[in-house]
Amino acid sequence: AVPTAPLRARAEIDLGALRANVRALRARASGAAVMAVVKSDAYGHGAVPCARAAVEAGATWLGTATPEEALALRAAGLDTRMLCWLWVPGGPWRQAIEAGIDVSLSGMWALREVTEAARSAGTPARVQLKADTGLGRNGCQPADWPELVAGALRAEAEGLVRVTGLWSHFACADEPGHPSIAAQLTRFREMVAYAEQQGVRPEVRHIANSPATLALPETHFDLVRPGIATYGVSPSPEIGTPADFGLRPVMTLSASLALVKHVPAGHGVSYGHHYVTPGATTLGLVPVGYADGVPRHASGTGPVLVDGKWRTVAGRVAMDQFVVDLGGDEPPVGAEAVLFGPGDRGEPTAEDWAQACGTIAYEIVTRIGTRVPRVYV
Ligand code: PLP
Repeated sequence: AVPTAPLRARAEIDLGALRANVRALRARASGAAVMAVVKSDAYGHGAVPCARAAVEAGATWLGTATPEEALALRAAGLDTRMLCWLWVPGGPWRQAIEAGIDVSLSGMWALREVTEAARSAGTPARVQLKADTGLGRNGCQPADWPELVAGALRAEAEGLVRVTGLWSHFACADEPGHPSIAAQLTRFREMVAYAEQQGVRPEVRHIANSPATLALPETHFDLVRPGIATYGVSPSPEIGTPADFGLRPVMTLSASLALVKHVPAGHGVSYGHHYVTPGATTLGLVPVGYADGVPRHASGTGPVLVDGKWRTVAGRVAMDQFVVDLGGDEPPVGAEAVLFGPGDRGEPTAEDWAQACGTIAYEIVTRIGTRVPRVYV
């Protein structure tokens, strides 16, 4: 049998922390329901265990990008209300309808496909109309909204759809005071009011992602959709640290040192020799690389806790491994190297890695690869 023990590397997932985060988010949600966003394998944390834990802690909705992600959660036995929002023509509308998954519509093509699927399924589709209130990404433009609303109401009158939600998404909620926030909120209120005047009776109206859930109570409406905050990671340094909101990071990424060796001064390290030892020293081999989601941009910058000290990635991150300069220390082979975690053992956080690599903490946790086993605690 192939061994499955997480000897090389592991991503420990603290489901107790996730549950506590969901409870903290519920407490901040002004009485609105909480949709735990579990797309992209729960931001790399594992969709099914995280979805279960979020529901145990009081999330009454689950959100995914793709219909396949939502269908996989249903197949795993999760019967919570779900919304999925990223559709392409020919998508699994009928399976979503039969699984009781709410589907998001941003345009007439999607309304046509979902009503056709509802007709052949003999069951009305639960649809949520997505407004582009200023993000400029997915969602229906204000100019096209009357046509989408009218079409959805006609399909509702025919018994083919039930319009369960009106919703949108922010562009800059992680930048407090950004003028687009107020502008999007005004447009959202207008687009909701228009749809309701025409006769739409939504169960839920929603626009708040993590930063809005944490910092903008006027955006909470009936439902909030925190993603990154569910995993205890801050949406941006401007919003604050996880601890500021009573959130705790859920993932700890660590590896076992695969080699510790003495090298002389002037020794080139890893591809390209971008690091050359300044003096005689010890090197530690950390057996994770960019194939595991350690960004190649961390070359020369990424922080790692080894034997109580922060070390830095020496030279380039390779596909499966990188090196740290241990400065003459000799931790045993197999000693733990912690890349990131909650920070309370002195280890770096995902936010530290984001800063070291010029990216956002979302990307750090989400890209941890499937070769790294998730260990649930
Ligand atoms: N809602 C939608 C439509 C999203 O695409 C996302 C993620 O990007 C979220 C909510 C959750 O965002 P965040 O992780 O910033 O809370």
